[in-house]
Amino acid sequence: MKMKSKIMALVLAGMSLIVVGAAFSGGAAPTASAAVAPDANDPPLDPQAPGLPPGIRRTLVPIVTTPTATPAPTATPSPTTAPSANAGTPFRSNVVVTVSGGAMMVSSNGLPDHAAGPFPNPSNPNSILPQTYLFRIPLTPQRATTPSDTPMGPIGVAINGVPFYNQYNAQRQDAVLVERFDSCNGHPDQRGAYHYHQLPVCMTSDMPGQHSTILGFAFDGYGIYGLQDVGGAAPTNLDTCNGHFGPTPDHPEGVYHYHATTRFPYLLGCYAGVPAAQRR
Ligand SMILES: [Zn+2]
Ligand SMILES: [Zn+2]
Repeated sequence: MKMKSKIMALVLAGMSLIVVGAAFSGGAAPTASAAVAPDANDPPLDPQAPGLPPGIRRTLVPIVTTPTATPAPTATPSPTTAPSANAGTPFRSNVVVTVSGGAMMVSSNGLPDHAAGPFPNPSNPNSILPQTYLFRIPLTPQRATTPSDTPMGPIGVAINGVPFYNQYNAQRQDAVLVERFDSCNGHPDQRGAYHYHQLPVCMTSDMPGQHSTILGFAFDGYGIYGLQDVGGAAPTNLDTCNGHFGPTPDHPEGVYHYHATTRFPYLLGCYAGVPAAQRR
């Protein structure tokens, strides 16, 4: 009993020595004003912390010990019985779509579901970063009496949650002519927001001789399709907004919709409908 407490006292003495040693090992020599007892809540500087200037502390994450006797239950994925994501909409499963107030509310982190980049690169200093989008797409588009200009930034959203931007860059130059894009025709802006100014070529699933499939929606609710009209050729009757009325795979009865084009304005050149207010 006596022996045990002696050993414990020695161990405790050793521990406090270690703590004191650690507190002074990483930084400057202690001064009179620094004669404060080391605090357990104030971890010593980590000399291994990479990229940190002297004196700047890395946030230390407490180590949580997990019980070993309770393994986490493993979920058995059953893709054949799981309900399809975003049923009734063309949006892909990396996007969450809910219907509210006569609109599709499209929640997306803006990260493409296809290979992108590399970014940054010599022509674009920005990296692709996740965003917190909640886009509003009217379910029943209203045709405007006169078309309106699209704004800078997002003007619509692709079925993978990546926004469409208009035909201009920040200097109001033809973005497609001036800017550089990756192999899917996208690139990130200064906020890291990946976007398309033109046909995202890796998103198309067009069949020869047929109208293009839907790529996404403009914020006025009208669909945006690829390069092919009925019959597979490029449409010849597009209006100033790059839209026309006609059948699509989703609306065989005919509907107003936009087309991507290989020439300016590449996507919609203006809103033919009334755009829904977007969150700012
Ligand atoms: Zn851009
Ligand atoms: Zn068409």
